[in-house]
Amino acid sequence: MFRDHHRQALEAQWWPTERVREYQLSRLHGILTLAYGKAAFYRRVFDSVGFRPAVMNSFDPIQSIPTIDRQTVAENLTAMCTRSITEIGVDFASTGGVSGAPLHFYLDASRSSVEYAYLTASWERAGYRLGMPMVTLRGRVVRADRRGMCHEYDPILRHHYYSSFHMSDDNMARYLEHIGTLGPCFLHVYPSTVTALARFLVRSERKAPTNIQGIIAESEIVYPEQRKMVEDVFGRRLFSCYGQSEKVVMAAGCEKSDDYHVWPTYGYFELLDENGYPVTTPGERGELVGTGFINTVMPFIRYRTGDWATYVGDHCEACGREHIVIRDIRGHRTQEVLIADDGSEIPWTALNMHDDTFLHVRQFQFMQEVPGKAVVRIMPADAFNEKDVRRIARNLGQKLKGRLVLTVKRVDTIAVSPRGKAIYVDQQIPSASWSEHRNRK
Ligand SMILES: [Zn+2]
Repeated sequence: MFRDHHRQALEAQWWPTERVREYQLSRLHGILTLAYGKAAFYRRVFDSVGFRPAVMNSFDPIQSIPTIDRQTVAENLTAMCTRSITEIGVDFASTGGVSGAPLHFYLDASRSSVEYAYLTASWERAGYRLGMPMVTLRGRVVRADRRGMCHEYDPILRHHYYSSFHMSDDNMARYLEHIGTLGPCFLHVYPSTVTALARFLVRSERKAPTNIQGIIAESEIVYPEQRKMVEDVFGRRLFSCYGQSEKVVMAAGCEKSDDYHVWPTYGYFELLDENGYPVTTPGERGELVGTGFINTVMPFIRYRTGDWATYVGDHCEACGREHIVIRDIRGHRTQEVLIADDGSEIPWTALNMHDDTFLHVRQFQFMQEVPGKAVVRIMPADAFNEKDVRRIARNLGQKLKGRLVLTVKRVDTIAVSPRGKAIYVDQQIPSASWSEHRNRK
């Protein structure tokens, strides 16, 4: 299973456009026929719009099928399944719910090896080869070893796991020292955990271990500022992949640019604008919508991921691949913005200062309950003092120009998602009420 999919992924990424389209049309035909024949939900929906998978011979008719989202899945859980959920080979899964309730669904038990085939094929673009030691800092609960360091080792995969929930300066110093003894290895991280390591290296004036061959960052948005800082500090490229538990779209960085290539054999991908039309103009943004080929237990057909990206083109100038190129993938906006007094939105990245503002800060997070006011929670590093508080207030104040009053608050811990992912904006204002606020003004 793994080998076949791995080989296919490696080959298919270089297929010419015509071959990709032929393959996708045949796989789409298969999944749509299965859904229509076996899943009550899809039969009802396809019938309601007059869509017949049997007579589909181009991509166009697909656009008559309504898109679905998390809520559709939550409301039609078993009606979307093509077989009994009690059968062997059916797994139950859930996604982390940073911005709302977790989503539950079903999928094929075999998808893990398929998923891993695509992941390793992606990582190989960064120079990784199966069997190389991998340093993992990604929200796993890791127990302390006999030296008291939160580190576990899997000798079969050659993965070293460190606890991203224990990132004090002392622990990071120990992690980095240990990583330095592993020989040529790769980092597999959340963008936020590798940023924390990079910030620690800067403020403690240490050098990054030179045996780290590359950095693979996944599962969170990669902000351009983070990428630059991490690449500067480690002297290695930060390579990123994009995917989701629902397994409809997977994209991996290009080896020659910071853009993403969508894997053409993983699912059928569409980039749709606010009105549901395909984005075809380079530079315009659209929502990532996918029809997964991997999950046959509960097909996700035209599933809106809630993530958005910029359309670059259908051909990569840098590497020559002939399929869709996207960049700047962003998630749900409630985790991205603060609301000014006039109801306008301020992306938190506009406040992510690259000077010495956060020099003695281990981690920070914005929290907002009412428009026009916010708290910046600061988890101090050792050298932090009152001067830092004044500098943060002054520098952020200059950027905000009175649109938002910010209070600096020192805290001992900053909450992360249940899977250890960073939450940069703890936005307590419901999105409906902030648009109301804006309309009133
Ligand atoms: Zn490329």
